[in-house]
Amino acid sequence: MDLYRDLILDHYKHPRNFGHLPNPDAVVEEGNVTCGDRIVIELRVTRHPLPVTIRDIRFSGEGCAISQAAASMLTEKVKGMSVSQVKKLFRPDIEEMLGVTLTPSRVKCATLPLEVLEKGVISLHRDG
Ligand code: ZN
Repeated sequence: MDLYRDLILDHYKHPRNFGHLPNPDAVVEEGNVTCGDRIVIELRVTRHPLPVTIRDIRFSGEGCAISQAAASMLTEKVKGMSVSQVKKLFRPDIEEMLGVTLTPSRVKCATLPLEVLEKGVISLHRDG
């Protein structure tokens, strides 16, 4: 059995932090047209003391195993992280997290949750 494939399937079948937050500070949704994936991420942050830190996170959505597993793993990874740490996450971090090298057709699926999260983090700054 492939350990990493098992991990992805486990997160797909039993997603962590799936659902909604009461009074989220940011709600961001994004889709991946080619695959039909859709991810919604809801964030709650603490602003005091600085740095701004992700206190709680939930995701919802639907799509292929890679997109949903990546969202589930990402929520676990970033909870408790500062916003500036989140902004330093890129595709290699997602590949490392998933434990697979992404084929071109899967890159969008795997990085969609991160794209949504980055949008959410940016929207926090607009709120001041
Ligand atoms: Zn997909």
